Amino acid sequence: MALIHNLGFPRIGARRELKFALETFWKGQASDAELLGTAKQLRTHNWQAQQALDWVPVGDFSLYDQVLDMSFTLGNLPDRVEGLEGSELDNYFRVARGRSANDTDCNCIHAGEMTKWFDTNYHYIVPEVTANTTFSLNAERILSQLAEAQAAGVKAKPVIIGPVTYLWLSKEKDTSNRLDLLSKLLPVYGQLLDKLADAGAEWVQIDEPALVTELDEDWQRAFETAYHVLRSSRVKLLLATYFGTLKENLRLACNLPVDGLHVDAVRGRDELRVVLDWLPEYKVLSVGAINGRNIWKTDLNATLDWLEPVAQKLGERLWIAPSCSLLHVPVDLDSEQKLDTDIRSWLAFAKQKLAELSVLGKAINQGRAAVGDELAANKVAVDSRKNSERVHNPQVKATVKNITAELGQRQSPYVERIAKQRAHLKLPLYPTTTIGSFPQTPDIRKARLALKKQEMSAEQYTATMRAEIEHAVSEQEKLGLDVLVHGEAERNDMVEYFGEQLEGYAFSQFGWVQSYGSRCVKPPILFGDISRPKAMTVEWIQYAQSLTDKPMKGMLTGPVTILNWSFVRDDQPRSESCLQLALAVRQEVLDLEAAGVNIIQIDEAALREGLPLRKSAWQSYLDWAVESFRIAANGVADETQIHTHMCYSEFNDIIEAIAHMDADVITIETSRSDMELLNVFEEFEYPNEIGPGVYDIHSPNIPSVEQAVKLMTKAAERIPAERLWVNPDCGLKTRQWEEVIPALQNMVSAAKTLRKNAG
Ligand code: GLN
Ligand code: ZN
Repeated sequence: MALIHNLGFPRIGARRELKFALETFWKGQASDAELLGTAKQLRTHNWQAQQALDWVPVGDFSLYDQVLDMSFTLGNLPDRVEGLEGSELDNYFRVARGRSANDTDCNCIHAGEMTKWFDTNYHYIVPEVTANTTFSLNAERILSQLAEAQAAGVKAKPVIIGPVTYLWLSKEKDTSNRLDLLSKLLPVYGQLLDKLADAGAEWVQIDEPALVTELDEDWQRAFETAYHVLRSSRVKLLLATYFGTLKENLRLACNLPVDGLHVDAVRGRDELRVVLDWLPEYKVLSVGAINGRNIWKTDLNATLDWLEPVAQKLGERLWIAPSCSLLHVPVDLDSEQKLDTDIRSWLAFAKQKLAELSVLGKAINQGRAAVGDELAANKVAVDSRKNSERVHNPQVKATVKNITAELGQRQSPYVERIAKQRAHLKLPLYPTTTIGSFPQTPDIRKARLALKKQEMSAEQYTATMRAEIEHAVSEQEKLGLDVLVHGEAERNDMVEYFGEQLEGYAFSQFGWVQSYGSRCVKPPILFGDISRPKAMTVEWIQYAQSLTDKPMKGMLTGPVTILNWSFVRDDQPRSESCLQLALAVRQEVLDLEAAGVNIIQIDEAALREGLPLRKSAWQSYLDWAVESFRIAANGVADETQIHTHMCYSEFNDIIEAIAHMDADVITIETSRSDMELLNVFEEFEYPNEIGPGVYDIHSPNIPSVEQAVKLMTKAAERIPAERLWVNPDCGLKTRQWEEVIPALQNMVSAAKTLRKNAG
């Protein structure tokens, strides 16, 4: 009998219950007990949804982030929360977001750094370590969840992050090597596994996704050391790898002394045969056969074609699972009542993926005939998508074929362009601007909802949004910002907004996926060839420009980001879909320019996160990604200033590609890292202008003038002042006006100080 199991379930809730509970709690409008109560309900609900499985993940639930949870389990908290008042929960949220529900402005601390979880759009809180870091077990959270699951009658399989991946994800706050901490860390893992064994766990899923990345020899050795130490534990270990192929780590992964191995058989299909060759006879192999990273229905018949021989070979030793945790897909397709029925029939969310898993399990254990109806229905859906006219647009395919390199080339080099731009923009030294969005207030959301429910007419909606734009413009003028934005009030989301206006896109109502903490995104579904029926932003920007004499930036989302933040069709290369998007954005850029917009920002917030996990695959991604941006952006005249924005600044390894995008100005995220991330500019002379963020918008904290001056002064040591801009880390949509105004006031004052200091 093959078993079926899951690696992790979305925790946010089908209706984002966790998000709302957290936000109410942070506002001080709910007690600890109320928050924890909602969390418990969600877990119970999630376990019910997974009842048909032979093993159900436990401990995958988190109030904010599973890596932060692991840091707390291991007793690895930053020194700055030591001795602070309150409960563990207070400290948990202090590390997560700079303050607990009870903290006031004056006793908040800086939040832990946040970064992307492998190549997903999920962000984790980076564990901080130094040579002096010590670990001590605090298993309370996972043990209580285990007890809860057992009481609910669930076949519980605790999930933890493995020791090597934990260190791999950590960041040294001194000059030590984090790998040196392994010997201190392993005893705590040993204790944790003992506790789980005592509590009745039979299997523990120990996640080591670092195994799908290129590892130095010392990291490879660390795996051997770690699992030789942990082999004496009394639980069976299922070592879980996901998000890709094992490649040169394959033999290592197969031979570690654990009881089972999980591999991603979606991205690693071709490797499965080799895994079967190397896997010792005593081990279970968990085959991740259902894509945990996308929302398309699995072709079950095709999957069985390759899975059956694997099952024949492995017999009892086969487990079947999604490729990775289902954290990265929405909860339930059944909630989607408005989705076009054709398109809906092509999709599967977390619950539907588990149903697919059950069908696969039955087909393997009892033969295909036992699930004949399900397999026939699946075939109808898969074929309907393959042959749909809505997916294939010959005209779009032909335009992409005709793309030439010239399309991505600006008319003149940067030095010539910038002279022309400066001549007519007349900006001061250290110009100030923001990244685009202003707070999405409850009023804005209410209006959007009313429009959706047809309780508000399109005209009323436009008027409401125009009033928001007026407000944003007048606030910016009062603040004295140099380059203004319209505030993006009309945009629910920077990708969905564009997707909604492009052919080839579909939208879910509840297809939310956690991005970080309480923040969720609802990736649109790119199902077909892309085209732009008409201008998407021009009227709004023109209106905003009509309200002010200051330059107004046109705001667009770039093709790579639209792609990376969508659920993308899997029936053609991503590069092909990206070029289609690039052509659509290019038309918009040219329309904005024709409407008299002098500065156009094309956000490529997500360019970096699209990087393949393995460096060997980077260049080919960067080639088509950068080319797509260039095609979108570079059709404009020299006088038109192109900005781009990126939600990070770890550029060290891709700085040349970033420079090759040839944007006139790039604004980036740097404030949490103290401008440390700008070190790369000491070696590589980035030729164009840069705005390193001085205001951490992911935290409710307000930067002081001194802080901002200090940060910019540090930046000016690496980049000439003439090429520096002063701006926040990212858009302000998640913040409140009460925070944004003083923060931007301080930012503008800082710019004035900097100008004075520069003489
Ligand atoms: N222009 C967008 C905004 O300001 C950029 C958001 C982002 O980079 N994530 O909201
Ligand atoms: Zn950003």
